[in-house]
Amino acid sequence: MTNYPIYLDYNATTPCDPRVVDSMLPFFNTHFGNAASKSHAFGWYAEEAVAHAREQVAALIGADPQEIIFTSGATESVNLAIRGFAEANRTKGKHIITVATEHKAVLEVCEYLTSIGFDLTILPVDTDGMIYPQQVEAAMRSDTILLAAMYANNETGVVFPIPALGALTKERGIAFFTDATQAVGKIPVNVQADGIDLMAFSGHKLYGPKGVGCLYVRKKNPKVELSPLQYGGGHERKMRSGTLNVPGIVGLGKAVEICSHEMSVESARLALCRDQLVSALTAKSTILANTSATMLLPHVANLCFNFTGGDQLVRKLSMNLAISSGSACSSVSVAPSHVLKAMGLSDDEALSSIRFSLGRFTTAVELEQAIQHVLDVCPGSQLTQ
Ligand SMILES: *Cc1c(COP(=O)(O)O)cnc(C)c1O
Repeated sequence: MTNYPIYLDYNATTPCDPRVVDSMLPFFNTHFGNAASKSHAFGWYAEEAVAHAREQVAALIGADPQEIIFTSGATESVNLAIRGFAEANRTKGKHIITVATEHKAVLEVCEYLTSIGFDLTILPVDTDGMIYPQQVEAAMRSDTILLAAMYANNETGVVFPIPALGALTKERGIAFFTDATQAVGKIPVNVQADGIDLMAFSGHKLYGPKGVGCLYVRKKNPKVELSPLQYGGGHERKMRSGTLNVPGIVGLGKAVEICSHEMSVESARLALCRDQLVSALTAKSTILANTSATMLLPHVANLCFNFTGGDQLVRKLSMNLAISSGSACSSVSVAPSHVLKAMGLSDDEALSSIRFSLGRFTTAVELEQAIQHVLDVCPGSQLTQ
């Protein structure tokens, strides 16, 4: 039996894996200690659990455990990385490069920095939502200090050429920040091989809990300096003061460990499901894929319903399908997606587009039913343009 609505919005958030919930439960009461309490066993136990999670996270991304800073989520990690880096390195230069299809967290913090004297270049993407290293190279200036380019796009699933961007930034002595919230735990990510200096991700996008995230901060070759966003007890190598969310961190560690074991099988299965969805729907002449990039996340499809009423589709389907017309942050408003607009879609086309994001608990039956529900509400061959 299928539970309705069928959840196809895994890029907005994922359910917590039951194994993650189990790992967290003892840390709410039995092992409730403060990881910063150095004088008794409650604190030691919590500290050990945090250290273990730090190792689990570091192992998945090829980092050293000391390079892992726990935060409240990707938004905080993005802010700490970009603003913290800019403020700590402002004597070295004032120019920052980013990309038009970044998450709002990145774009908004970059915009804020322009208000305090930084210069910003926002690179355009092509119609597939892709950027190219040559473009980034052409935008680099002698006072460029940071490139902020996401690993994989939350709306389209487009994966940027991260190793090439990492190599380019290394060559030019520029720091490289990547928002890898949609990539970590889904596709292989390695901060060494990819040449990443700063990387943000979040628990609730990889079957962990909400309210916990991570920032990778490179410690050597080169050591990356950050100013903290908040001051206090000096937790997390003075970069993120505040009592650690021990249950959340334990859950994030467990979630990451599960991903490291199951990622390859899971992504192969989801790629087949995604292909089935895309081919069944784009068989209709009125339904078009919004990107034909070859580097894509396995579980995401963004489709344009190019007929009158396409923009009403999410509402029409909402009893049966949990899907979205953009990122969760912008779907409260009726504004067309800034990502799709950057790819050259009109307001109407962007508003008539739907993101399908599949995940660990998506079943073959659910997928078939989802396809049927979409086809049922699509007006067949009544082409309007
Ligand atoms: C979800 C998401 C964020 C924000 O993550 P939170 O943990 O909810 O703050 C940032 N960037 C991308 C690409 C995302 O998908």
